[in-house]
Amino acid sequence: MSEQSSTIEQKNDFIRNMIREDVSAQKYQQIVTRFPPEPNGYLHLGHVKAICLNFGVAKEFDGVCNLRFDDTNPTAEKQDYIDNIKNDVKWLGFKWAGEALYTSSYFDQLYASAVKLIKQGDAYVDLQSPEQIKESRGSFNEAGTASPHRDASVEENLQLFADMKNGKYAEGKAILRAKIDMASPNMNMRDPVIYRVMHQVHHQTGDKWCIYPMYDFAHPLSDAIEGITHSLCTLEFEDHRPFYDWAVEKVGFAQPPHQYEFSRLNVDHTMTSKRKLKQLVDENIVSGWDDPRMPTIAGMRRRGYTPEGLRDFCERVGVTKVDSVVDFRLLEFSIRQSLDNTTARGMAVLKPLKVTITNFDEAVKDWESLKAEGVKARWDEELQTLWLVQPNHPNVDMGEREIPFTKDLYIDQGDYEIEPPAGYKRLSPEKNEIRLRNTYVLAVTEHVLDDAGKVIELKATIDPTTLGQNPEGRKVKGVIHWVSASQGIPATVRLYEQLFSVEDPSSVSDVHEALNPNSLTELAAVVEPSLVNAPAGTRFQFEREGYFISDEQEHSTEQPVFNQIVSLRDSYKPA
Ligand code: ATP
Ligand code: MG
Repeated sequence: MSEQSSTIEQKNDFIRNMIREDVSAQKYQQIVTRFPPEPNGYLHLGHVKAICLNFGVAKEFDGVCNLRFDDTNPTAEKQDYIDNIKNDVKWLGFKWAGEALYTSSYFDQLYASAVKLIKQGDAYVDLQSPEQIKESRGSFNEAGTASPHRDASVEENLQLFADMKNGKYAEGKAILRAKIDMASPNMNMRDPVIYRVMHQVHHQTGDKWCIYPMYDFAHPLSDAIEGITHSLCTLEFEDHRPFYDWAVEKVGFAQPPHQYEFSRLNVDHTMTSKRKLKQLVDENIVSGWDDPRMPTIAGMRRRGYTPEGLRDFCERVGVTKVDSVVDFRLLEFSIRQSLDNTTARGMAVLKPLKVTITNFDEAVKDWESLKAEGVKARWDEELQTLWLVQPNHPNVDMGEREIPFTKDLYIDQGDYEIEPPAGYKRLSPEKNEIRLRNTYVLAVTEHVLDDAGKVIELKATIDPTTLGQNPEGRKVKGVIHWVSASQGIPATVRLYEQLFSVEDPSSVSDVHEALNPNSLTELAAVVEPSLVNAPAGTRFQFEREGYFISDEQEHSTEQPVFNQIVSLRDSYKPA
């Protein structure tokens, strides 16, 4: 948790402090940042941090943030990923400057830059095999050796590069390399590859190109082309910065972008790598990129996480250069916090146990005499139902709903124990009275067992004088929730645990061994009608159970489906 910032309001991280200095020194006309995903998968929790930082900084300093697809590897990329990435950024609450941008729209300019480098004697075509090239790079302790093609003439190189572009070479037969220093202690400076042959159709440029720039060449130049002032990326690119600076300078940009590196977001029991998440999708370990257990933005959205909660989480995590692993309970804390004041309450019984109220008919006859005490209700003769009017939330601005109260109810199986553990506060043969939330006090008179000795039904009575008021002469402790058996609606409720039981799933070579077999539990629940009538994608607090959302894709009024967002509370407190 060392990465957590205690100065949420001030946002005094090293990047913002630096930008603050640049702003007060009037170093730039405007702050320009960018979020540069490669469209080779769906965005995940790690990207949320990068998005909040880049877009957040731009907003705070009256600048702009570009969304740029770093699309230099057509084999792994797809239009579907592009569409979903755009959707995810918007959903998180951010707006990019103008249209979305693509590295591929700079391919002409990047090609011209490569030609310029060749003309300057700063790049050459290497015709060695990939194995030879790899071998001649040397190692940490050992300088690399020069390629026999390193000193070919400019004319020769221009011809070879044109030949590459014109399709004369098969993949792996020719590459363009920067000519820097084969003895550099930084391996990235040992004549890195800047263009390669790939006979691939590109999702944006079609079949125009059969050579594609390497990420390390395209990335800094794209930043420079866009006039990015602060190029923010994760620490693993620190060693690449010398090459980025080299490329930008050699190509001749007047005001080069500055790259600043921050630590990646790592969260325990979570995997943040598109490639590894793709494996879960491809092997049907999850139902898709948007499976609610996935740490993708699409998955977290379907799970019911809120953009506010995710942004709050990123603020709490802060931005540093120290690698650390964040406790997933901090994420849950932020999500929970964003839900409390915004979600309507409702009652849902996840593991139903039937209760028959034997004195229902006589008891409810009197409800009207209680109207004076502020009870709002309506008797429905046809359905033999007392419709109780209750607020949706302690904040009365959130409106009211009608809850059906009937002779047959469901309560949760966990609220009646034949042999209760010590300290148990709900129903048992010894403690037979309890308040039913929003309605009468109930007293159990009998439990019915099946052959295996399991309780399958309770018979009970209600105290007619307790609707909306306390009984006289005794204190009834405890409140439980319930749902009408006849008017309640069967619903599928999905409970979630971590997708991975292992704390660091990336450390396990076989992902199957890291999986939590209990990550998904589906229950046949019964819920009050107000919960199913709201549109799919509505979040609720199920009283005493947690926060839930009606599933964006599968929920319907006829077949309700709810996903658990997060539990109601946790002993965890952020530092
Ligand atoms: P992945 O390995 O999942 O594909 P990536 O870094 O290759 O991640 P990109 O699409 O290239 O994915 O990332 C876009 C931006 O998001 C980059 O600037 C990258 O530094 C940032 N980013 C990716 N993962 C994280 C993370 N875990 N924490 C913070 N930023 C991240
Ligand atoms: Mg990547």
